[in-house]
Amino acid sequence: MRLLLSIFFITSILVSVNAQTSYVLTADRVFDGEAIHEGWAVLIQGDRIISAGPKEKVIAPSNAKKINYSNSTLTPGLIEGHSHLLLYPYNITDWDTQVLKETDSYRTARATVHAKNTLMAGFTTARDLGTEGAGYSDVALKRAINEGIIPGPRLMVAGRAIVSTGSYGPKGYDSDQQIMLGAEAADGNDLIRVVRDQIGKGADFIKVYADYRWGVDGEDRPSFTLDELKLINEVTKSSGRAMVCHAKSKEAIKRAVLAGAETIEHADFIDVEIGKLMKDHNVTYIPTIAAVDMINQYRGWKKGTQPEPAAVVNKKKSFKEAIASGVTIGMGGDVGVFPHGENALELELMVEYGLPVLDALKACTSINAKAFHLEKQVGFIKEGLKADIVIVSGDPSKNISDLRKVKLVMKDGVVYRQEK
Ligand SMILES: [Zn+2]
Repeated sequence: MRLLLSIFFITSILVSVNAQTSYVLTADRVFDGEAIHEGWAVLIQGDRIISAGPKEKVIAPSNAKKINYSNSTLTPGLIEGHSHLLLYPYNITDWDTQVLKETDSYRTARATVHAKNTLMAGFTTARDLGTEGAGYSDVALKRAINEGIIPGPRLMVAGRAIVSTGSYGPKGYDSDQQIMLGAEAADGNDLIRVVRDQIGKGADFIKVYADYRWGVDGEDRPSFTLDELKLINEVTKSSGRAMVCHAKSKEAIKRAVLAGAETIEHADFIDVEIGKLMKDHNVTYIPTIAAVDMINQYRGWKKGTQPEPAAVVNKKKSFKEAIASGVTIGMGGDVGVFPHGENALELELMVEYGLPVLDALKACTSINAKAFHLEKQVGFIKEGLKADIVIVSGDPSKNISDLRKVKLVMKDGVVYRQEK
């Protein structure tokens, strides 16, 4: 016991010393969330950025630790806008099996590794869009990360998410069986109770499936009426939280936007007109291109050798229309469908589909920060913000894949990864 106690005290001392450690970070270039600067330094003290600017103007205390990498770029900690830490790739275990046959505790054990991989890839913040049948395990995961029990990104979590009765999966089982769903079903006035219950259990925002593939021919069709969405938003907003909507079809996007959604997830059928409507209502678009790409590969598409399947062709076309509409484009890949830690895949595809590289960098830093109301904490290299820093080799403002060449990851002023 005495040994345990002394270990505890030594650990506490180390943590408090660490919290006051100063660092001067330099790189060939600094991306501050909006633009590239050469010859900059960033001074960190404790968990904060104290100053950032031209090297000669950043005055460091004599005991500050100096970290510099040659041929490197320093960026704000990256922000994943659409993750599912409680899921893992469907080519390993299909979604139905994960939802129906895996216990929440098993899934949470896996999620601790997913969280670590996310952080080590430079994503120091993630917005998690639903546990898909694992209850409020995301709330517990967030707590364990915040308490320093396990390494992981700063999390915003949805909890169970809301679907309309009859729309969501797992599907196709004997209707005599009560099959558990990947989200919580509610309709009409009952939505008031369910939104409040989810908030009470720890949801940082309310995630709603505004449509689902439950049309007569399996096409995406709205699942809630405009009035139902407005009701969800009213209750959500009055608690100071945001409603965010899964919506692929034009009609569902339109209803979600008019009801007050702050972000639209997927929007596979977005066009210039719908993009403009989103822009007019200050709604951020989270494209999840990687999910479409990877699910089609899991279904047998040999990328690069076979022609693109219809869903991929459509996703490319609609993403180009979204760019043309001028809607704000954030970053979120639906990671979990593909491996956690491979988050940069979404950014590579955004660029491949026509987004300028610098806009992709902004999407996963400043734009996501603003979209999730985190701009006073993260997403920028700016005095007073949290010391969430990534240094990579190369220049991701020229080649987005350089974001994979992670040399240093710092979150809240603590170094979690440091390569030679
Ligand atoms: Zn998702």
